[in-house]
Amino acid sequence: MDRQQEFVLRTLEERDIRFIRLWFTDVLGFLKSVAVAPAELEGAFAEGIGFDGSAIEGFARVYEADMIAQPDPATFQVLPWRSEAPGVARMFCDILMPDGTPSFADPRYVLKRALARAADLGFTFYTHPEVEFFLLKDKPEDGREPEPVDAGGYFDHTPHSAAHDFRRNAIMMLESMGISVEFSHHEGAPGQQEIDLRYADALTTADNIMTFRLVMKEVALEQGVFASFMPKPFTEYPGSGMHTHMSLFEGDRNAFYEPGAEFQLSKVGRAFIAGILRHSAEITAVCNQFVNSYKRLWGGVGSTAGAGGEAPSYICWGHNNRSALVRVPMYKPHKGHATRIEFRSLDTATNPYLAFAAILGAGLKGIEEGYELPPGAEDDVWALTSAERRALGIQPLPQSLDEAIHAMERSELMADVLGEHVFDFFLRNKRAEWEEYRRQVTEFERKRLIAVL
Ligand code: GLN
Ligand code: MG
Ligand code: MG
Ligand code: MG
Repeated sequence: MDRQQEFVLRTLEERDIRFIRLWFTDVLGFLKSVAVAPAELEGAFAEGIGFDGSAIEGFARVYEADMIAQPDPATFQVLPWRSEAPGVARMFCDILMPDGTPSFADPRYVLKRALARAADLGFTFYTHPEVEFFLLKDKPEDGREPEPVDAGGYFDHTPHSAAHDFRRNAIMMLESMGISVEFSHHEGAPGQQEIDLRYADALTTADNIMTFRLVMKEVALEQGVFASFMPKPFTEYPGSGMHTHMSLFEGDRNAFYEPGAEFQLSKVGRAFIAGILRHSAEITAVCNQFVNSYKRLWGGVGSTAGAGGEAPSYICWGHNNRSALVRVPMYKPHKGHATRIEFRSLDTATNPYLAFAAILGAGLKGIEEGYELPPGAEDDVWALTSAERRALGIQPLPQSLDEAIHAMERSELMADVLGEHVFDFFLRNKRAEWEEYRRQVTEFERKRLIAVL
């Protein structure tokens, strides 16, 4: 047993913890959990815990259903919303095949593989997400319009509001689980919140995002409200994004930083953006995986962001340009290590392991193949006419799940990054979602047509 494993076993005893939740994530990004007793843990560290993978979305075909969950002791945390003794703790798991090799279906493995590729080139990948979501008065019921908890707007300070207490409790809970919060505020729509996590390596960030979603739901329930990460719950309000800031480090040197260069952005940083831009249509299905995600990306009204609320619709980059897909934020000349890029299409309902793997894969391709970065967009690209955008060579992002699936299907990069199993499963699942959606006759159609035709 190694020292981390010993630490876990000792903590269980000292804190009277009788349940350990072993967590992992299915291919669509839903959290799965199996509870074990402390006595089982030594065995779980050594050999893992067997479970039936056929019941988990995307894990296995029925005849190869036996799988193993092996807890990662570095991710051990006591769950703070179960504070009374006996306590409950959790660890994230790696999923193995019966012969002990990593399962190709495990999203955590997909990301680890992508990070190992970055490491071969000498890079560590850091990410820092801005997570947006809605707080609703009640658990939504079929067919009823959900009601936000307040009528606040961007950065509003609403005294004694549910949102205020909520953010304070939520942040305390995250911090007690070792997840540092950098920034939090009311977002643009009624009931909409944003909490930004401190930057960490991408695997830790992905684990943290999975924990984050659950913590928000738990804290909301405790306060008698409901948290939702649906990308676009309301037609008339902006959706919830997960803008993510990123950088590559070589040891403790920020590889995106070059003093004196434009925006302090190095050649590596420029090529990374170029890779993301060139492959952005291919990675969109994974970054924006639901039919509903495209209502956020394309939810603008008229020629501006409008109800789209600064979600990007076009493939371009810019400096402090909030209509761009990739933004190079304002820099502080003395803070070279903070040079980074912000990727803005990602939404909060993504599988963070797969999304980070895909974005990193696209960026590394730009570096390896030496892609040239096209000129940045200085204008508000929503306000341009389509002819003007064409003249500037600015393409739209996929406008529906269907378009995103088509772009992904043809992508060698995505097949390579996700591996054949996840690539095939994901496309099959998303095609089925699209086909079911396409068959629906909606209220929109009935309202417009049934009486006048
Ligand atoms: N809600 C917007 C989005 O969906 C972002 C708003 C903002 O942070 N400026 O991307
Ligand atoms: Mg923000
Ligand atoms: Mg925001
Ligand atoms: Mg942002």
